Amino acid sequence: MHPGVISCHECDLLLREADSSARATSVACPRCGAELYRVGRNALERSLALTCAALVLLVVANLFPIVGLNLQGHQVETTVFGAVRQLWLDDMPVVAALLLATTVLMPLLELCALGWLLLPLWRGRRPRWFAPVFRAFQLAHPWAMVEVFILGVLVSLVKLAHLADVLPGPAIGCFGALMLVLAILASTLDQRALWQAWELAEA
Ligand SMILES: [Zn+2]
Repeated sequence: MHPGVISCHECDLLLREADSSARATSVACPRCGAELYRVGRNALERSLALTCAALVLLVVANLFPIVGLNLQGHQVETTVFGAVRQLWLDDMPVVAALLLATTVLMPLLELCALGWLLLPLWRGRRPRWFAPVFRAFQLAHPWAMVEVFILGVLVSLVKLAHLADVLPGPAIGCFGALMLVLAILASTLDQRALWQAWELAEA
């Protein structure tokens, strides 16, 4: 693409990029009105902070029990890895692999890739393997489904509530917070700012 020229993702109108000193917070297409991009300060810092917060939450959420059951004095609790192991032992390897991939591996890959890109860019340097890591991030993003997992856990908690005493573990709160942080990160991440920072950074 020619530098300084962008196309509207809705109607394909070609536009020259606005002067970066302009103070507009949001630049819209003059033909169809779609938002082209946002001009925001501290876009990299904000995304980096959210990525670090999400990584901490993801680690804590996987170390502590999600839920415990108290059935006539007999107490059991499980972590995500415990649930994966149990599903595997119960002859459900596909479900176990899906749980591990969508709740642990893909969010981890997504956050590590983002951290790998953001940290050097924030310090004014070009990260190594920028394009493949960016591609890995975009590939992992739709497969990170923490919110689906949370929904599943909540539904099963409600269904189990009349059979046994359900004790929510510390990880469920972390997963809830992680879900919110990931949603904020996805909606505020400015991929254009990453490319811009890469162009300005030292090789
Ligand atoms: Zn347009």
